[in-house]
Amino acid sequence: MNQFVHDRKKQIKFKGISISSGRVAGRICLYSAERHKAVPQYSLTNEDAVEKDLLRYEEILNQCSHELNMIASDVAEKVGKAESEIFLTQKHIMNDPKVVAAVRGMVKEEKKNVEWAISDVMSSYEEKFASLDNQYLRERATDIGEIRRRLLGKLSDKRSGFVCHGQEHCKHGQNRIIVAEELTPDMIVHMDLEKVMGFVTEHGGITSHAAIMARSLGIPAVSGIAGIMDYVKCGDFLLVNGDDGEVYYNPNPETISSLVPVEPVQSETVCVLGSPAGMEVLANASTIDDVKQAWAVGADGVGLFRTEILFIKAGRLVSEQEQYDYYLKVTDMMHGKPVTFRMLDIGGDKPLPFLRIKQEANPYLGWRGSRFLLGNPDFFQTQIRAMGKVSCMNKIKILFPMVIDVNQMKALLDAADSALKEVQCDRKNIEFGAMFEVPSAFLQASKIYELVDFGSIGSNDLIQYLFAIDRTNELVSQDYNPEHPVLWEMLSSLSETARKHGKPLSICGEMAGREGMPTRLLDSGIHSLSITPRLIPRVRNEMARYAGVLV
Ligand code: PEP
Ligand code: MG
Repeated sequence: MNQFVHDRKKQIKFKGISISSGRVAGRICLYSAERHKAVPQYSLTNEDAVEKDLLRYEEILNQCSHELNMIASDVAEKVGKAESEIFLTQKHIMNDPKVVAAVRGMVKEEKKNVEWAISDVMSSYEEKFASLDNQYLRERATDIGEIRRRLLGKLSDKRSGFVCHGQEHCKHGQNRIIVAEELTPDMIVHMDLEKVMGFVTEHGGITSHAAIMARSLGIPAVSGIAGIMDYVKCGDFLLVNGDDGEVYYNPNPETISSLVPVEPVQSETVCVLGSPAGMEVLANASTIDDVKQAWAVGADGVGLFRTEILFIKAGRLVSEQEQYDYYLKVTDMMHGKPVTFRMLDIGGDKPLPFLRIKQEANPYLGWRGSRFLLGNPDFFQTQIRAMGKVSCMNKIKILFPMVIDVNQMKALLDAADSALKEVQCDRKNIEFGAMFEVPSAFLQASKIYELVDFGSIGSNDLIQYLFAIDRTNELVSQDYNPEHPVLWEMLSSLSETARKHGKPLSICGEMAGREGMPTRLLDSGIHSLSITPRLIPRVRNEMARYAGVLV
């Protein structure tokens, strides 16, 4: 009955790509964007629920019968009568009294939800037919599979969610390894991430926004395991080796003991504070919890606060007052250390579903970043006003994402200027900066630097746009190369421009936290970096060793 039964005991190793390091073993929770792919299974707890599911079954039988009639007459007209018979046969099997009685019986007697019952009944017929000697009947197994998918597809609302509704093995991700098609920001902000043990996904590259969040929380994650959603089910056992990009299904005790340490690994025993070797070490943050962590590890400030997460989490536009309260809290929590807020940076791998932006063929080259901000003056002004008011209490830095050239930079600053005139603020306490992450901005860096107070390199997007390589696509991740000499030429030239203007330049992309990178950045004249708070002690110690403070 169950397609996974034959594999349940065998250890199987899958190879993917590492998204976030660390190793963990535990039970699975399936999270699906297309829930019907993995069938929800739960028990009906009372007669009302049973009646409701029987009614749902009747309704979808009617709907699917009607649909099959329509398809059959359409096919008869366009293709031929013989071909249309397939669909009529499917309709007959679907409405066969024995099949219907079996599904109803499971719902009534065994109290299985209707999806579960359909899946079980259809799978058992499918298996029976597939093993018959008669070729004609054997081929009917395919029809039964089709019916199963049609019925379950109709029942599913296709909204994202946990597959088992938390009824049996699935605990809404709590103390479980989440297996999903892809990590999306929407998905991970709606989970209690503190309690998620690991992530395994079918798609998604190393620098997608959601992957960055998994990394910042230190959750082991592996991507690129195609088909895993169809292979495993809620409650199965998995080992995620985020260090090597491997996943073990049904790991042996020996595999577990050799790969997963009993004691958590201490990443660093000594932690140096201050800025050894002259490198300012700031934190990237997206939430209040990140800011808490940034403070706790002694970050020199927040170098990048991704404000879009506030909106993704809220699932709606956030009012000026709410934004003000939130931004004020962030600056208060850093007790006078510098805080850089990035204006809403949506589009590409960071969609805001509630804005209902028209589907774009190329969202990474579409209405995003500063282009989006300028196209939405109401939104833009609200966010600037909220930030401006914070300047009456605390110093703030405001950063514009995906700036493309000097004209756009000027338009952004003019729009910010007029928005600030509408509120009480302290202009001396506000600095404006440009993100350098689109190659064209590097070619006008000097002119842009004339207008702004500081610059910040968004290397995640820069690599994407410089080498025409999708940062979220695991198939091309081997070419996503932060070591590329062309990239380093651009970094050095920008740091030279910043130096000439006597204005600061920082880097806030993921590569800054990689082992060995901070010292290379110093050599290129970049003296400030912003990374996920978890990496700060390690980077500080690397800098201290470089400066000879630590051996
Ligand atoms: C970047 O692009 O490098 C960056 C820091 O911003 P994000 O990852 O949020 O696009
Ligand atoms: Mg970016």
